[in-house]
Amino acid sequence: MVPRRYVFPGVLEMNYQARRRLGVNIYLIDGGTEFALIDVGFLDELPDVLELIRQMDFSLSACKLIIATHADVDHIQGLSRAREVLKCDIAAHPRSVPAIEEGDEVMTYARIEAQGIRIPMPRCKVDRTVDEGDRLAIGDRTLEVWSTPGHTAGQLALRMGNLLFSGDNIFRDGSVGVIDAHHGSNLLDFIASLERIGRSDVEFLLPSHGPIFRKDNRLIDATIERLRGYTHLADFGTCAVDWPLMDAWEEELARGELPV
Ligand SMILES: [Zn+2]
Repeated sequence: MVPRRYVFPGVLEMNYQARRRLGVNIYLIDGGTEFALIDVGFLDELPDVLELIRQMDFSLSACKLIIATHADVDHIQGLSRAREVLKCDIAAHPRSVPAIEEGDEVMTYARIEAQGIRIPMPRCKVDRTVDEGDRLAIGDRTLEVWSTPGHTAGQLALRMGNLLFSGDNIFRDGSVGVIDAHHGSNLLDFIASLERIGRSDVEFLLPSHGPIFRKDNRLIDATIERLRGYTHLADFGTCAVDWPLMDAWEEELARGELPV
């Protein structure tokens, strides 16, 4: 038995618990009589994660629900195995369901051909969909579901009191989840999700990667400004909404200007 190292009342996180980096953040919501997990990470790490949960004196049969923040392989590769072992329901946003149920290697980033990345992405049944405004009771705790698209169309954040399990919306260094058209990213949605987080009276962000941190609107505002910039830059391909350079050039061409 190992002591539970709660990061907040009712909240454990496996990297903090293990005091080493296991991978994606895996939150355990301890509702007393039952618990839930937010994401499960890679399949390779799952035995260690389950062992940690056992060592903390939880009964694996008390797991009520696993919520997938979104359908990226580093968050959900172990989902199918976890569902078998824990015999609990899997919940995800409707827009994440096809990639999870089909084990879509491209949408989940399990296969990035150009970089030689190819790892298995086991299919997993999603037992229930959850969406904006749903409330999930886990024993004596309640999670409020936020739909926060942008990184992916189906990304969820989950609010519990003054805490927001914030997925890949923003990390402590101000970076954000990958922006990629092939992945369903949408910059304007991303900005709206960040604005919502900024406006909220949530006090702590519990991201899916890296350390937990206190919500800082200067950080969020700077990130929003950066993303706004991306909407006008060719760097972001079809995620950008326009390219002002082309408009300027069109005017220069019409005026007959030549290179100076
Ligand atoms: Zn991620």
